[in-house]
Amino acid sequence: MPRIGIIGGSGLYSLLDSPRTVEVDTPFGRVELSMGSLGGRSVAFLPRHGRGHRIPPFRVNYRGNLLALRKVGVERVLATNAVGGIDPKLRPGTLLVPDDFMDFTKGRAYTYYDGETEIEVGGRVIRGVVHVSMTPSSYCPELRRALVEAGRRAGVDVVDGGVYVCTEGNRFETAAEIRALRILGGDVVGMTGCPEAALARELAMCYATVAVVTNYAAGVAGAAKLTHDEVKEIFSRRMDDVRSILEGAVSLIPEERGCACKDALEGAVVSG
Ligand SMILES: [Zn+2]
Repeated sequence: MPRIGIIGGSGLYSLLDSPRTVEVDTPFGRVELSMGSLGGRSVAFLPRHGRGHRIPPFRVNYRGNLLALRKVGVERVLATNAVGGIDPKLRPGTLLVPDDFMDFTKGRAYTYYDGETEIEVGGRVIRGVVHVSMTPSSYCPELRRALVEAGRRAGVDVVDGGVYVCTEGNRFETAAEIRALRILGGDVVGMTGCPEAALARELAMCYATVAVVTNYAAGVAGAAKLTHDEVKEIFSRRMDDVRSILEGAVSLIPEERGCACKDALEGAVVSG
């Protein structure tokens, strides 16, 4: 059973060695995963936007995706996201492992615990009210460390820390929105990091992401009219580095979890 899962954005479809496709049924629909190996370990891979990048960020089945990974044994999730740089120091091409996030999405399914759906986590069935905590670490510190260290070993510059802001899309942000997000403390902005990170916490899974800065956010010095072609071009140029970071991180992740993520449901369940 793979204990590590990778949720990839565009450009990572052929990440695993000898992959085979597995379909997993969840209360949120059927999810197709790829199972194979990476860095000598068994890994499950999930292309967030589906094959051929057909699913827009606001329609991604975040709940189904993470629960499917959980069901095949995954406890730790490494993700990738394409982002815009709000902080002008974060030039296009920068890789960043955020240490916190802000969720400014507007209409997604934010929780497993809707008071109706039965969710099984580690043999425990919950169908009530649950409030997980996002402190002291919004992202798993153990996985963040593995990603940053993998970058260092591969000779790839990785910015350690930063605040990821998630917007709803589909359009890119306005310059006024980016000014506001900068005042609020955002460093990078994307459309797919939330509610993914919080849903992982709700399943007591570890989660961390490597964000690829593909452009300056709107209104940031140097920003021009943004096209998806530019985003794709920068993203694909950095894909080799992202792959080596993911591969390195997979082999650096400790066998047993030493972080608090596994205890996320302790004291969080108001009614089971
Ligand atoms: Zn963790």
